[in-house]
Amino acid sequence: MMDLQVGITVRLRETGELMRLLAVESVYDSSRRPGKQGVCVETAFMRPLAGGGRERDAPVELVEGVCDHQKPLEEHEDGKRCPGCGALIYPRGRHEAT
Ligand SMILES: [Zn+2]
Repeated sequence: MMDLQVGITVRLRETGELMRLLAVESVYDSSRRPGKQGVCVETAFMRPLAGGGRERDAPVELVEGVCDHQKPLEEHEDGKRCPGCGALIYPRGRHEAT
């Protein structure tokens, strides 16, 4: 399995949604075992690949890495996209350096 590094595209196993990984953190979760001591869950924080939408989080075992954007990026109307997964890496306009 691909390492869960920030910035890669990941797939939610439950829904098949592709998301961009923002962070992986240990989160203390007291809801999983009611009445008992909570557990620390390795949690992936994600947002949709492009445009708006809600950020999500899920235990890392429910997430799998699908693309780490190693290929050269492609120019598109809305910015630079990864040809492997279609993720919008550099939206056009907001971060133009030149
Ligand atoms: Zn990609």
